[in-house]
Amino acid sequence: MTEDCIFCGIVQGSVDADIVAKNEYGVAFRDIQPKAPVHVLVVPNTHVASLDDAEAEHQELLGGLLLLAKEAAAKEGVADSGYKVATNVGPGAGQVVYHLHFHVLGGWEDKPNFLDV
Ligand code: 5GP
Ligand code: ZN
Repeated sequence: MTEDCIFCGIVQGSVDADIVAKNEYGVAFRDIQPKAPVHVLVVPNTHVASLDDAEAEHQELLGGLLLLAKEAAAKEGVADSGYKVATNVGPGAGQVVYHLHFHVLGGWEDKPNFLDV
């Protein structure tokens, strides 16, 4: 837990979120300002600021988060239609919340804007 980190607050349950799935590595919850019909964030239970702060010791964690992204996509009903998993790293990529998160996006009826996360 890092003080003043909104996603640590969601993991700890002190901040409300619409939780879709959990596993031993993290939590998947709906984005508060969705950029796609389905927009879920997958975050680790432990505070890692971004993918750039991940080290070899996080290898199992990263795998667990990607499997959680897959589970969240299935629960949100986009496993068959398809979905995108993305993470913004640093200010140049538009990262706003410095607690690692994977965006899970899908549910478009027409061609999605692949750059708009
Ligand atoms: P970033 O730009 O850092 O990759 O994405 C941060 C995402 O977190 C944004 O899509 C934003 O809408 C979402 N977000 C920010 N604060 C909250 C919050 O308190 N609750 C939820 N559910 N999503 C949030
Ligand atoms: Zn955090």
